[in-house]
Amino acid sequence: MNTPELSVIIPVYNEEEGLATLFSRLYPALDQLNISYEIIFINDGSRDRSPAILREQFQARPDVTRVILFNGNFGQHMAIMAGFEQSKGKRVVTLDADLQNPPEEIGKLLAKMDEGYDYIGSIRNQRQDSRWRHVASKAMNSLRERITRIKMTDQGCMLRAYDRNIIDAINSCKEVNTFIPALAYTFAKNPAEVVVEHEERAEGESKYSLYSLIRLNFDLMTGFSLVPLQLFSFFGIIISILSAFFVVFLVIRRLIIGPEAEGVFTLFAITFLLMGIILFGIGLLGEYVGRVYQQVRHRPRYLVEAILEKTE
Ligand code: UDP
Ligand code: MG
Repeated sequence: MNTPELSVIIPVYNEEEGLATLFSRLYPALDQLNISYEIIFINDGSRDRSPAILREQFQARPDVTRVILFNGNFGQHMAIMAGFEQSKGKRVVTLDADLQNPPEEIGKLLAKMDEGYDYIGSIRNQRQDSRWRHVASKAMNSLRERITRIKMTDQGCMLRAYDRNIIDAINSCKEVNTFIPALAYTFAKNPAEVVVEHEERAEGESKYSLYSLIRLNFDLMTGFSLVPLQLFSFFGIIISILSAFFVVFLVIRRLIIGPEAEGVFTLFAITFLLMGIILFGIGLLGEYVGRVYQQVRHRPRYLVEAILEKTE
């Protein structure tokens, strides 16, 4: 196969129950588009039967051109990165394996691309996730909107389409911690968004724990903005100025009224508040420094155990 029109990239992590339904909907949906396509599955270190099922698909389907098998769990975004590196298509679409993004919507994204856009994001119509995820996600979306330059209505939806230029740009990035939709957005010349349907997870459970969601959002904030750090400097400056006034005030009081030792608890309250803020600041700094450290170690971002690849 030469250059296909479309590469579809699907990260898979412990999705054995849902894969069969995914296949049964994905292939017909892609066939309907009437373009040449390839499918790349990345097994992100699943401990269930997913890799075996993917191997079978690789044997059975000529359009499953590559199956990348990771040596461990390196995360959805690293899996997609690996998929991008292996993809050949003129356009690339990423899709979740759990069928929350219906594959039937791919055509809508491509149609939008035909209008001249190079990056199509998506907005989930009536998102089918738990309530707390809705609320948390809304909060993170608006926070991100404020502190980064990335404009996305719905950062969490991974059903997205990218032009080859953007994929090449992303492939030249060597960052360890990243957030692909945001990274792509920084390279996009002409991005657009479409509304897509969203379904409940077909089988299995979300692979994101609260902890991994928090980590991911830190990756997004620290990876695309220095504003959190700058806010701290700004806050430090304000507090310094206020305390300077306060010192002058206390000196004058000392001269006029003499020594006093009242208000110890007020002092405690202020001290603890400031200590909390300082600890938070150090933690935040640590988030940046830790990521710098991970980056400078130059360890491989992910380990590939095997790539099943169709040779012509
Ligand atoms: N995934 C992955 N590695 C991980 C976590 C998730 O490859 O460490 C894949 C997962 O198999 C699915 C997609 O990423 O195809 C989205 O995961 P999930 O549906 O659990 O996330 P949610 O929809 O809850 O945000
Ligand atoms: Mg999901």
